[in-house]
Amino acid sequence: MSPGRIVVVGAGPCGIGCARELLALGHADFRVLEAAGHPGGLASSVVDSQGFTWDLGGHVVFSHYGEFDRVLAEVMGSDLLHHERSSFVRIAGQWVPYPFQNNLHHLPAELAEEAIVGLVQAGLAAPWPAEPAPAPSDEPAAAPDEPALAAADDFGSWMARTFGAGIVRQFMQPYNEKVWAHPAHEMSAGWIAERVSVVPWQQALHSLVHRTDDPGWGPNNLFAFPAAGGTGEIYRRAAQPLGKHISYDSAVLSIDPVARIVTTAGEQIHYDHLVWTGALDALVRCLASAPERVLCAADALVHNSVTVVGIGYEAPLEDDRSWLYFPEPDVPFYRATNFAKYAPANVPEGRTDRYSSWMTEIASSPWRPLERKGLAERVDAALRRAGLVPPHAGIASVHVEHIDCAYPVPTLGRDAALASIQPWLMELGIYSRGRFGAWRYELGNMDHAVKMGIDTARLLVRGTPEEAWS
Ligand SMILES: Cc1cc2nc3c(=O)[nH]c(=O)nc-3n(C[C@H](O)[C@H](O)[C@H](O)COP(=O)(O)OP(=O)(O)OC[C@H]3O[C@@H](n4cnc5c(N)ncnc54)[C@H](O)[C@@H]3O)c2cc1C
Repeated sequence: MSPGRIVVVGAGPCGIGCARELLALGHADFRVLEAAGHPGGLASSVVDSQGFTWDLGGHVVFSHYGEFDRVLAEVMGSDLLHHERSSFVRIAGQWVPYPFQNNLHHLPAELAEEAIVGLVQAGLAAPWPAEPAPAPSDEPAAAPDEPALAAADDFGSWMARTFGAGIVRQFMQPYNEKVWAHPAHEMSAGWIAERVSVVPWQQALHSLVHRTDDPGWGPNNLFAFPAAGGTGEIYRRAAQPLGKHISYDSAVLSIDPVARIVTTAGEQIHYDHLVWTGALDALVRCLASAPERVLCAADALVHNSVTVVGIGYEAPLEDDRSWLYFPEPDVPFYRATNFAKYAPANVPEGRTDRYSSWMTEIASSPWRPLERKGLAERVDAALRRAGLVPPHAGIASVHVEHIDCAYPVPTLGRDAALASIQPWLMELGIYSRGRFGAWRYELGNMDHAVKMGIDTARLLVRGTPEEAWS
């Protein structure tokens, strides 16, 4: 049976993935309503007035899903550059290859000793099980040597139990609080499967004593990037076949879930099913008649914000590294991306013999407010102190973007809140998917978003159960 009229809210990766799949399944009765004037959402890119291209934070393309690979191949063909990750952590004036905990021999001796002693103590206090902890069914399998999560483990306790005091003090705690802008003890540890490298103390000790590097961990150690146009080029192209189905500058302001009508500034549109890919808490507030318990659950969802400060320099840069992590408090950003290395076209006219560019990210929240005053100057000074800017290089451009909803924080109360909201929405024919629609960081990347969109289309048209979100 036909699912009738489908309205998709948002033309980011999830909404575009959904709409393309609806067309592929032969279902043309749908509209996509996008608040912005362009597709891409958080995965968009901008070209600034000086000709530098910037993403909304450091995006790299990697994938867990054949469906995402196919969309990428179809829209980008050979217009992708492929890179091997070269990533480092700046600590005590040294560059330690990422993941930090796998490469301790790069630390000054006293820090390396503190780190390994803590790791061994933690390992002996909580020996790891022979069998891996079972991964939730919708997440990629955990690394086989990953320690089990204690019931209701918070992220702070998990870090201490897994890495010991030294690694937590030097890197884990300051870095994670800088990224999440949220206390680690108020976060759950259920999302770490693929996001944090867990190293057995025997392996770390071996690498320390033998001074061997282990930089290849993780799903993004190989990544792709569009040859021109930034990450946003993928979604500009992916949106093209959707043509008249997409309306830009069409923010959904309210939803009547009983009459099944969405309202924008200029239109009222009837739907049979609604796919929402904006923020879940905003959706609940858009809905007439949301019950108190659902409103309270929406209030319990926490996000951080990220300010992207991109600085273009008028000097070539001999530096092959991809991105760098900064846990220390004297550096305003948590990460800096060598953006001209991703694609020469990210600098004006592709002139990497003349320009270079660093894209930095600063997270904030009510718990960790953003210090806006002099931010770009502080970013430039920190990049220079770390030796990342050629001496005497002049600034060719400064570009600042503030992303209000950047990371959906996996707080301890998140899953209970989601369990209140999502079933209620689905009974109303509303599917909230995507990075902030699902509000699950472990499903927060572009490949997850596109896959969730495709899965929702298949569910609505064919009744096929969703695979990524469940
Ligand atoms: C700092 C940062 C770094 C990242 N790095 C990576 C990375 O390296 N690799 C990776 O794969 N992913 C990365 N991501 C994640 C990636 O950006 C997301 O996975 C992806 O953009 C999510 O797509 P989405 O469609 O679910 O949501 P979004 O991109 O948020 O799109 C939602 C869309 O809905 C629209 N919308 C919202 N409300 C309304 C409304 N009321 N009416 C109409 N339209 C509305 C928005 O304008 C937006 O266009 C990163 C994200 C951030 C913030």
